[in-house]
Amino acid sequence: MSDFKLTKDKLPDIAKELGVDISKVVDLLPRFTEFYEDVRQQHLASVMRALELRVRRKRDDPNFRIIWGTMTRGTTSTKDAVALLYRKLSLFAIAVPPEMNLQQLRNHVAHELGHLFYDTEHPEDKNDKQLNQKMANVFGVFTMLERGDFYKEKAPKMCNSTWYQVINDFKQLSNREDGKLGTS
Ligand SMILES: [Zn+2]
Repeated sequence: MSDFKLTKDKLPDIAKELGVDISKVVDLLPRFTEFYEDVRQQHLASVMRALELRVRRKRDDPNFRIIWGTMTRGTTSTKDAVALLYRKLSLFAIAVPPEMNLQQLRNHVAHELGHLFYDTEHPEDKNDKQLNQKMANVFGVFTMLERGDFYKEKAPKMCNSTWYQVINDFKQLSNREDGKLGTS
């Protein structure tokens, strides 16, 4: 287990250092834990979000959204993810087969996002299915290289040396004269 793991034994220190009633902190933990389960399910969320914004801009479609979900077990025999672009609904929907491991899932999502990216950048190629299939893989490789570089090189440097330092960082923040909710 990493030292940074959010465990109950850290709550008294968090409450004390930030000057919050311990019962408030204890109450927030299960709600946060439930929320964070959803965060863990958002694979490649930053790539997905940035692509969503790019497509909105490029297609002048402010409502454009990308969603993904797992196929219902037994409804399909496909081993590959599928994605559909619903232009009238401003929607790109990715469906991933169940029982994929995390790495397969991320690769499949990256490939499907690659289709959307290539279709957006090179609409003139849209009838060349083989080319699109290959370029979706190229996008997948580009994306996973960037992610690998981030996890191996950049993410470790963004991490504090101890979990207590994280509390101290926010203790500094809480010393500022704060504005109204959400303004600073
Ligand atoms: Zn494909």
